[in-house]
Amino acid sequence: MNVADSTRLSSALEQLGYRPAPQIEAADVIVLNTCVVRQSAEEKAIGRLSSLKKIKEQRPQTVICLMGCMVGMGDFSPLQKRFPFVDVFSAPSDTSRLISYLLETERLKTSDHHAAAWTILEQNDDFVLPVEMRGNSVAAFVPIVLGCSHACSYCVIPLRRGREISRPPEKILSEVCKLAEQGIQEITLLGQIVDRYGRENPVYPTLAELIRQIHPVDGVQRIRFLTSHPNWMTDELLGTLSELPKVMPHFELPIQAGDDEVLRRMRRGYTVEKYLSIVEKIRARFPFSSIATDLIVGFPGETAQQFEHSLQMLTTVRPDMTHVARYSPRPGTYSAMHMEDSVPDEEKWERFRAVETLQEKITAEINTRYLGENIPVLFEGKKKERWFGRTPTNKLVFTDSATSLLGKIESVKITWAGPWSMIGDISADQ
Ligand code: SF4
Repeated sequence: MNVADSTRLSSALEQLGYRPAPQIEAADVIVLNTCVVRQSAEEKAIGRLSSLKKIKEQRPQTVICLMGCMVGMGDFSPLQKRFPFVDVFSAPSDTSRLISYLLETERLKTSDHHAAAWTILEQNDDFVLPVEMRGNSVAAFVPIVLGCSHACSYCVIPLRRGREISRPPEKILSEVCKLAEQGIQEITLLGQIVDRYGRENPVYPTLAELIRQIHPVDGVQRIRFLTSHPNWMTDELLGTLSELPKVMPHFELPIQAGDDEVLRRMRRGYTVEKYLSIVEKIRARFPFSSIATDLIVGFPGETAQQFEHSLQMLTTVRPDMTHVARYSPRPGTYSAMHMEDSVPDEEKWERFRAVETLQEKITAEINTRYLGENIPVLFEGKKKERWFGRTPTNKLVFTDSATSLLGKIESVKITWAGPWSMIGDISADQ
């Protein structure tokens, strides 16, 4: 979501005449887009802020904007007191405060840029790709649900990104069409619970209906969506997805814990059994699909046995990827206020490493299934002289080619498969 927000803000700034600076010290405007989902992310943002303070001291005319979940949706005066050198505090997904500030402080150089600023402030949906993405990018994120109203007991996102709001379908569709016109072939629809799209507004389509509307857009070859929630992944959604060939068979379905009691205290709203039933449904409809999950270790009161249940869960589900996090109490959340952070740090690390080791083994085993297969890969760019792209199941594949593969979908025969990436040759039978 932050990548999507940063892209939108870059695009807006470019329409106002700004261009990427060669190095941060030379920039007229610096935006620090922050994440506070875990304490380590917040500490990193604070570290970056102290280096920005030095830049502000040396070049006082530099505009410094702090954006994202560190600012949140409410009163940011405590941050103002703590970081007085910051000029603009912007809520997540909000580009208007920085643009208003640039207008008010008369920093926009031409009347065209002035007019563009007003257009963006009034419409806020005239999305064009930033310069560095134009002609170089084949994939883009499109936020469709902002905020979250679920309130899991550990999660700070509802407090920082606000309650769930679905974006109007016509804006989403027009944005997808504009992105396709600019060469984007893969669209990833974003939401904290993306499957809940449209639920709070009876005239909006469901996610399944929205994807049906996007599917025929010329130029869009692949559609993805994240993040799902087991309670909202309906049969209607799965049925629709299986009928639409542009929808990629990759699912981001967080489990968070493999123990019912821990899930209950996390306020996730489902049981292990329910989660497993959704996985079963996904695999029945999409036999060659991938599932990525999220797991928290060391949640307050998580016993060794409850953690063992999480490992068993992974062994049963065999996800392609687990994003594992050590629990850290986030200010204002239910768990931070009412539960003791009882699992010692060393124990959290041990559980973290146990999940990583197990997942690496599972992923390596799954990926060997790809050996010798011809898989369609959409190529996104070049890294260290090798072209890279993604399979429909979102696996990273590298290959050699003397000619540009950017934006091409090629059938690649997989010759090597590791846990994090694969290598292959463009199939001769193309
Ligand atoms: S569903 Fe739960 S974990 Fe996900 S954003 Fe909402 S509150 Fe946070």
